[in-house]
Amino acid sequence: MKEELIIGRDPATGQPVCLHIKDGRIVSIEPGPEDCDLWISAGLIDLQVNGCAGRDFNGPEATVQGVIEIVEAMLATGVTCFAPTVITASETMMLRSLEVIAEARKASQRVAACIPFVHVEGPHISPLEGYRGAHPQEHIRPPSLEEFDRWQKSCGDLVGMVTMSPHYDDSAQYITGLVTRGIHVSLGHTHASTDQIHCAVEAGACLSTHLGNALPATLPRHPNPIWSQLAEDRLTASFIADGHHLPAETLKAMVRAKGIDQSILVSDMVALSGMPPGIYVAPVGGNVELSEDGRLSLLGSTALAGATVPLVQCIGKAVRMSGRPLNEILRMATEIPGRFVNNRGRIAVGSSADLIRFRWTGELIVHDVWLNGELIVL
Ligand SMILES: [Zn+2]
Repeated sequence: MKEELIIGRDPATGQPVCLHIKDGRIVSIEPGPEDCDLWISAGLIDLQVNGCAGRDFNGPEATVQGVIEIVEAMLATGVTCFAPTVITASETMMLRSLEVIAEARKASQRVAACIPFVHVEGPHISPLEGYRGAHPQEHIRPPSLEEFDRWQKSCGDLVGMVTMSPHYDDSAQYITGLVTRGIHVSLGHTHASTDQIHCAVEAGACLSTHLGNALPATLPRHPNPIWSQLAEDRLTASFIADGHHLPAETLKAMVRAKGIDQSILVSDMVALSGMPPGIYVAPVGGNVELSEDGRLSLLGSTALAGATVPLVQCIGKAVRMSGRPLNEILRMATEIPGRFVNNRGRIAVGSSADLIRFRWTGELIVHDVWLNGELIVL
């Protein structure tokens, strides 16, 4: 039986706490000694990760080894739980990605612990320019529960979240089918009307994917999919707070409209995250330029070609952009996304000891990371 005491300062109260860890779980929480200078939090949770460190879950180059490397890179930045995101492609290619991720979970306990489920973003999204973002138009198709069941068969029921656009005629039926199967349905890349969004929520959709992005440059002033989703109290929204996808005032106003309790930070990182600045050929978007500050643009244009800023850095940016305190922003990267992952992301008696300790300098600097009570990074 392995036991350990972990001491850190709780950002919500400023008070030091001492966690007693036994067999990978938190068994008690006591006041800690005053002289501790590290902050403590549940490990970060990122519900949207396409890849990082030169590796991607998508495309013909996805491999079991690549998945293992992504997990190691995520842990090094304090993320102890994340959803690999498989995006719109041919069914054959999507099945391949799902199989590779399932294989990696079988090959490595650490991968299985970090990856609770896969997020499939697409292929049932808006085919319209702007709304579809970088998803390839030729592979966008109407919802099909038969196809969903083939996804699940290929990966042992590993898909746990689906982002779709409810503008299709039989969207409600599809959403009901997914919710019945225990899947979280998120709305995104959508030009759906207010009524269609309302019907989707009635059918059980509960999330908005990267709200404020995947939209054309000009929209009807109102109604439009932003207002309809912002006003819908049953939708929790995810936001990309990388400093490039949303201006500060937009993030601030949207988080205020939703409330912290219904706001989530995601990185939406692609394979080029963690790579040196330069010009690359990306599988989606072709020639792209990665700048020093993590902006990934189509070469010779200001158009974004994906996100590269890890969630840990988005926390500092979100604090600055929204003017909210660290403890609130941290909840958006732990407890709130954790509600969609069996209530992970909380420091509580009985919870798995997925923890980070860090310094706070206006940036969150990870000091050490535990996964199931095992010290991973020091
Ligand atoms: Zn997207």
